[in-house]
Amino acid sequence: RKGTGQSRKVITCKAAVAWEPGKPLCIEEVEVAPPKAHEVRIKVVATGVCHTDWEYLFETGKGMKFRPFPLVLGHEAAGIVESTGPEVTRFSPGDKVIPLFLPYCGECERCLSPKTNHCKKNWTNMQAGILADGTSRISCKGQQVYQFLGVSSFSQYTVVPDTSVAKIRSDAPLDKVCLLGCGVSTGYGAAINAGKVEKDSSCAVFGLGAVGLAAVMGCKVAMARRIIGVDINPDKFEKARQFGATDCINPRDYSKPIQEVVVEKTGGGVDYALECVGSPAIMNAAFESTRDAWGTCVIAGWTETEVMSISVEKLLMGRTLKGTYFGGWKSVKDVPKLVDDYMNHKLKLDEFITEKLPLVQINKAFDLLKSGKSIRTVVSLQDS
Ligand code: NAD
Ligand code: ZN
Ligand code: ZN
Repeated sequence: RKGTGQSRKVITCKAAVAWEPGKPLCIEEVEVAPPKAHEVRIKVVATGVCHTDWEYLFETGKGMKFRPFPLVLGHEAAGIVESTGPEVTRFSPGDKVIPLFLPYCGECERCLSPKTNHCKKNWTNMQAGILADGTSRISCKGQQVYQFLGVSSFSQYTVVPDTSVAKIRSDAPLDKVCLLGCGVSTGYGAAINAGKVEKDSSCAVFGLGAVGLAAVMGCKVAMARRIIGVDINPDKFEKARQFGATDCINPRDYSKPIQEVVVEKTGGGVDYALECVGSPAIMNAAFESTRDAWGTCVIAGWTETEVMSISVEKLLMGRTLKGTYFGGWKSVKDVPKLVDDYMNHKLKLDEFITEKLPLVQINKAFDLLKSGKSIRTVVSLQDS
């Protein structure tokens, strides 16, 4: 099968390029090569700005493994298929899609197992910022530009493997459903799939950014009785209550460790604790906030290089500790269903969006995220 659309032309467009760690992004003209076999070229319409993008740029080498520069960040997006490469059968130009940092090939042992969403299709390359053939499709000033997590949605066009993109319904608003490409799906699934939060249970969510608020939403949908939101920024509490938090607490208001506060408040600990910050100390606090005999702690916060230490005794007492990537959703297969849930008013997205900015102001989106003033900024790629 041959490619479709303008699949043999190079596209020149604008992208926010990260030339080196710790420096603001630069808006540049980039060339986006045609899609190769089993690849799809996407016109990116909207992208969220996730903590992981910020962290990779400004804390390079701290919590995440090194990935080469220059690169185009962004991995929480929605767009329209512009063209498809040879051998692509499931997509046509004009399809609305969500590119994904977690693949789903549908054929491997992992994709066929209900136990996991960790498909490894093109995994090593995508993590290194390149596609299946060992190169990226984006270049700037004659230099190869790496694709962060294999996606690169801070570009007006990008190319991704056909196993890393979900086709979604044609009436979905791209400037909202882009959030299902990472943060909201992750937090929501951390509660629903990884934690398997039960009706009438007690929960604590650590960190009330987009991932944490989505976890609160998941606990609420699961009909938890008590949902305690924990954050050092009290500005997040109002929104957390709107999403379903029953109590909100700030660790800085107490002289003792926050896990002791949670254990006291709940008469022995919560049934479920969800870590949505990305810090080993908070992961430990979340774990220690759970009730013995059956408490479950789910780690959704991201660190690739740091280690956590936990009390073996607390584990022996019957607690469960688990982690989740992308909330346990099988990306390509499940994201269209999450879009349906949004369209059917079962899942909130609009409430996560605190700002909308054009691509040229993308650095402001990072400032807003870091200062705690935003939950999600949605950046529109096509208007300037
Ligand atoms: P965010 O920056 O919007 O939110 C983080 C929140 O944590 C903020 O509200 C901040 O005030 C709070 N916080 C910071 N220190 C704290 C502390 N000591 N105690 C309590 N709260 C504290 O980030 P986000 O986009 O919601 O992402 C959250 C985490 O999830 C990050 O680590 C991110 O990398 C990770 N993440 C993981 C996945 C995955 O697949 N597992 C996907 C997306 C994001
Ligand atoms: Zn993310
Ligand atoms: Zn697979």
